[in-house]
Amino acid sequence: MIGLFGGTFNPIHNGHLHVAASLLERLHFDEIRFIPSATPPLKNMPQVTANERAKMLAIAIKDTPQYMLDTRELQRSGKSYTIDTLTSLRRELGENVSLCWLIGMDAFSQLDQWHRWPELFDLAHFVIVERPLDTQPAMSANLQQVFSQRITNNAEDLHTHPCGYCLKLEIDALAISSTTVRHRLASSLPVDNMLPGSVIDYIQQQHLYGV
Ligand code: ATP
Ligand code: MG
Repeated sequence: MIGLFGGTFNPIHNGHLHVAASLLERLHFDEIRFIPSATPPLKNMPQVTANERAKMLAIAIKDTPQYMLDTRELQRSGKSYTIDTLTSLRRELGENVSLCWLIGMDAFSQLDQWHRWPELFDLAHFVIVERPLDTQPAMSANLQQVFSQRITNNAEDLHTHPCGYCLKLEIDALAISSTTVRHRLASSLPVDNMLPGSVIDYIQQQHLYGV
C-alpha cells in the first residue's frame, strides 16, 4: 500500500512531516511519495519555483527510507491536476496496488473544486487528517454525500481494496502552515521549530522567501 502526499510544499514544514510520520506508523505504508505540485490549479503561482520546493522536500525526507520524492508533476506542462497524476501512477503501478491520497481536512473540504473530482475515487482512497485551523472550510452538500457513502472506520478496507474509500484519522496535527512560515521568514521572525533545520539552512543559502 502506497501513500501519496501531494501539496504545494511552499515550503515543507513539520506539520506535513507529522502527517506522514503518523500515517506511516498507523497504516503501515510500504512507502509514502511526496508529490510537489508544479502549477497548483487553485492557488496563485508560488514565488518559489517548483524545483526549489522539490529540493526542500528532498532535504526534509532524505533520512526516512520509506519516503520518496515523486516529481512527475514537474515534468508536465499546464495545471497540475491530481487526476492526471493518479492516472499516470496507476498506469505505472498497476490496477491492484492500494493507493492512498493523504490530505488535510481543509483541502479535502474543497475537493469538489478539483478537476474531474468524482473520478479520483476510481483511482485512490483518501486518508483525511484533521487540521487545527481558525476557520474550517465546510464541505458542500454534494461532497458531504459522496464522503458519507465512501467513509470507513476500518483501515483494513484500504489494504484490501485498491481505491474508493475515505478514512478519517485524528493525529494531533500541528498548528503550522506554509503561509505562516513564509510570513515569518519575510518578517525575519524565527521559524526554528516549524521546519527541519536542514531546510532552514537551504532557505538561507538560496535567499528564498525574502531571507
Ligand atoms: P499554505 O498555507 O501555503 O496553503 P499548507 O501548510 O496548507 O500551505 P500545503 O502544501 O497547502 O501546505 O498542504 C499540502 C497538504 O498537507 C494538504 O492536504 C494540507 O491539508 C496538508 N497539511 C498542511 N499542513 C498541515 C498540518 N499542519 N496538519 C495537517 N495537515 C496539513
Ligand atoms: Mg494549504
